[in-house]
Amino acid sequence: MTQPKNIVVIGAGIVGTSIAVNLIQYGANITVIDKDTQTNGASRLSFAWINAAGKTPFDYHDLNRRSMEMWPRYAQSLGRDVGFKVGGTITWETSEQRGEALINKVKRAQSYGYPIRLATQNELQNHEPNLTIENVVAASICEIEGQVEPPRVIQAAIDKIIESGGEVSLGEAFENFEFDSTDHLITGVKTTNRTLPCDLVVVAAGIDTTDIGYKAHTFLPQSTSPGVVVKTSPMPPLLNGIVYAPSLEEYGREVHMKQLIDGTFVIGEGEQSSKNTDDSIENAKRLVEFATRYLPQLGEASPRVEPIGYRPMPLDGFPAIGFVKETPNAYMAVTHSGVTLAPLIGELASIEITHGVSTPQLDAFRPNRFNTDGTGGRTDSPD
Ligand SMILES: Cc1cc2nc3c(=O)[nH]c(=O)nc-3n(C[C@H](O)[C@H](O)[C@H](O)COP(=O)(O)OP(=O)(O)OC[C@H]3O[C@@H](n4cnc5c(N)ncnc54)[C@H](O)[C@@H]3O)c2cc1C
Repeated sequence: MTQPKNIVVIGAGIVGTSIAVNLIQYGANITVIDKDTQTNGASRLSFAWINAAGKTPFDYHDLNRRSMEMWPRYAQSLGRDVGFKVGGTITWETSEQRGEALINKVKRAQSYGYPIRLATQNELQNHEPNLTIENVVAASICEIEGQVEPPRVIQAAIDKIIESGGEVSLGEAFENFEFDSTDHLITGVKTTNRTLPCDLVVVAAGIDTTDIGYKAHTFLPQSTSPGVVVKTSPMPPLLNGIVYAPSLEEYGREVHMKQLIDGTFVIGEGEQSSKNTDDSIENAKRLVEFATRYLPQLGEASPRVEPIGYRPMPLDGFPAIGFVKETPNAYMAVTHSGVTLAPLIGELASIEITHGVSTPQLDAFRPNRFNTDGTGGRTDSPD
């Protein structure tokens, strides 16, 4: 493939902007479009924990691990504070059954060479002195996990793309592709405003990638995975890192929380991919009240409801990244854990697109693994 010159990136979420910011360094002419003016996709509504401990099997874990290690450089390259912090993750359980599951998860991550360790109640308390931690049956600490603030990352990346001569157009939606006479190669992207001639298209449109994929003659099925995080009014600094606290009997789900640069708390419930569609203020109040059992100072915070976020989720749960055979100048990038994976996807995708190579790290995660009848895909599970 000759080096592409004009590249249109559809989707200005954390994944699309990471790919665009990497591509522009290779001298491509980049136009990024997003149908929203505030890039309201999954990235803005994410819990945005940078992690790999619970991810399996090894190839998927390792993809996340490698991206975690790239985050400091990516954050620094954006030239401003994007809320990136490696404050570690603590987790504990208060029942024998859940404790055993946690120990097994820690052992599995250790067998991948991941620096997570079992910890005592005192060690957790030293790590997060403001928390109320009781009745610990099993606990873990992972010092290398962290957090970031996707809206800040996206804005910084957009500014960098524009400074480097690219165009970012928010409020401009993809409508269709124009093809050459063979009907295989895209020659233009029709948007709500204009037609953008192009040599290559990157589709990083989150949950909408499936519909856009149809228009590129390809099938990239996704499952629906709604999630809700609740935010609070800003509070003084109370947490060092990410907290995964156990379920309380009367609540029935685990709670996880972190604190942003401006003091806002972000609180979620259940496991990392738990489905939740309750974005009511009552649910927000209940979740903050539950979190207050672990962090009494949260009693002073006012909950703020956030809309339901829909995780981009290829049908088998694994990332789908790469060119598609039906339309060889269309590159797709859709994934859960896209906050963790954004630096790696940006780097590998831009290398594949610019240099025409195929990186082995992505071989098991190609979009064409699904059959048109919905079968295919990987048979293992990402967590
Ligand atoms: C509740 C929740 C919690 C999460 N927690 C974590 C976590 O702790 N750690 C982690 O790593 N990941 C987490 N994730 C997943 C992560 O947020 C996503 O994988 C990531 O944000 C995906 O980024 P993206 O850029 O691919 O998609 P998005 O952020 O959804 O961006 C896609 C963009 O495409 C645009 N678009 C769509 N259609 C069109 C069109 N027709 N024309 C133009 N533009 C279009 C959208 O407007 C959107 O801005 C979570 C997600 C949710 C919802």
